Amino acid sequence: MSTHAPHAPHSPGLRRSVVLPATLDEAVAALTEMPAAVPVAGGTDLMVSVNSGRLRPAGLVSLARISELRGWEYQDGHGLLGAGLTHARMGRPDFAALFPALAAAARAAGPPQIRNAGTLGGNVVTAAPTGDTLPVLAALEAVLVIAGSEGARREVPVSHLLAGMEMLRPGEVIGHLRVPLLHAPQSFLKATARTGPSRAQASAAVVLDPARRGVRCAIGAVAPMPLRPLEAEQWVASLIDWSVVMDKGASALAPEALEAFGQYVAMACIPDPEPTVDGEAAVELPPAALHLRRTVAALARRALGRALA
Ligand SMILES: Cc1cc2nc3c(=O)[nH]c(=O)nc-3n(C[C@H](O)[C@H](O)[C@H](O)COP(=O)(O)OP(=O)(O)OC[C@H]3O[C@@H](n4cnc5c(N)ncnc54)[C@H](O)[C@@H]3O)c2cc1C
Repeated sequence: MSTHAPHAPHSPGLRRSVVLPATLDEAVAALTEMPAAVPVAGGTDLMVSVNSGRLRPAGLVSLARISELRGWEYQDGHGLLGAGLTHARMGRPDFAALFPALAAAARAAGPPQIRNAGTLGGNVVTAAPTGDTLPVLAALEAVLVIAGSEGARREVPVSHLLAGMEMLRPGEVIGHLRVPLLHAPQSFLKATARTGPSRAQASAAVVLDPARRGVRCAIGAVAPMPLRPLEAEQWVASLIDWSVVMDKGASALAPEALEAFGQYVAMACIPDPEPTVDGEAAVELPPAALHLRRTVAALARRALGRALA
């Protein structure tokens, strides 16, 4: 799935150029001047497309030298995260202390050489179903701060971009992501087909929001975009003793409740097929889908259990 509006087609007569702007606004200006060029951050996704011949951009606007994209700052109870933060940087302890689920997702994203180069912004724009930061950003209800021409900035919820309700317009660059600082436990878990770094078969992010007495959960990799099981979130939030969470940062939930939460989430994300015609037995899910549903149930149960431990 692409989150960009279509690029102008590559003209064979154009000489390919690489521009290395020093600021976000210079990057936008370069893209506006060269509509057939594309931004490149770590290049871990983009260069796969270029090398396979699927993408032939007339020019590249590198975001690698824009220092304002590589850090983060506090703003009104939120973290303003640079889109150029690498997975390796997000995995470090100082970042993990503030955004634990995002740090856990970043640590799980591919082998070390990919984590050293790959960025948060690139993960969002590629919007692969297996993008590890995406369920966390969905659970955190993160918002993109997008830079456009002449210093313009607009804000778009990450979930709107991933759902295709909003696209990046030509020349636009994601500058930052606004993420709430919840000061409460969060977790991210990922199931893979084999041991060692690999893409998710399913993933689960759970964040607690004590101020709003809310549990937010998102399941990744089982659909084109992360899924939020809203009814399961509300149900389990009503079982939690929030005064204990506020005091101690945790509150135990009975194992049966955790188990039921896992089942509730899994049924919401991978529902039974609709019955076909009157009187006929309902079609059963294929074994692979049943296995995936069990995986999702286990991930959601364990992710909530960890957050509440
Ligand atoms: C071997 C391998 C293993 C991988 N494993 C995982 C994994 O386990 N989990 C996972 O989540 N991902 C994985 N990835 C995917 C990839 O590493 C991530 O998606 C990474 O975060 C992409 O970031 P990047 O900076 O390299 O993006 P790039 O390749 O530079 O760019 C990707 C896309 O985003 C656009 N873009 C980048 N930054 C911006 C911006 N600020 N504003 C607007 N557009 C922008 C580019 O134009 C391009 O379209 C893997 C990739 C490889 C090659």
